[in-house]
Amino acid sequence: MSSQPHTVLPWVVRRTRLPLLSLRCVDCRSESATTGEGRFRVNANGKLLDVWLLVRCVSCDRTSKLTVHERAPVRSFDPTELDGYHANDPEVVAATLLDPLLAQRNRFTLDWNGAWRLKTPPTRPDQAWPLHVEVVFTDPVPVRPERLIAQGLGLSRNEVLRRVTCDIPLRRPTNTGFTFTMTAGDQPSASQRSAPMR
Ligand SMILES: [Zn+2]
Repeated sequence: MSSQPHTVLPWVVRRTRLPLLSLRCVDCRSESATTGEGRFRVNANGKLLDVWLLVRCVSCDRTSKLTVHERAPVRSFDPTELDGYHANDPEVVAATLLDPLLAQRNRFTLDWNGAWRLKTPPTRPDQAWPLHVEVVFTDPVPVRPERLIAQGLGLSRNEVLRRVTCDIPLRRPTNTGFTFTMTAGDQPSASQRSAPMR
């Protein structure tokens, strides 16, 4: 990175726990469920397997089953994957829950409220402007770049919109990495000089 004129600061978005599920309970109508410790149920029917991920209503504890695999031939499973289901492997639980296909198939959305954090370096080794930051996501937490940048820098969202140039739209939620550049407060920002942000 010696060719870089300025230090690129690493910011990391990562989960602190598994997100809850926005999923309506058929008993109490609550709209929040949890995987808890994470448990699968595997049911063999001849050469076919059903795999479910069990979730629990946070209000009344009612357990529901989310379909992971339905009547899938045993031979289509990777043995390690199957072991993961049988052992309730936390990594397999996380990967299954965070797979967008599971949400699509079982009609729920993930509730990331309070389940993630932004880690920023405590100090800037290089005080020169502009500021360059690369944001890395270790988990697919959906955030609006403008909101994340405002939080990370302790600025208002208006100021972010004025001073930041980002390689993706600032107001559209994303869950993958991006980079941005922020100019010093008293300079016209790059975004004002080139493409105006809306
Ligand atoms: Zn309930």
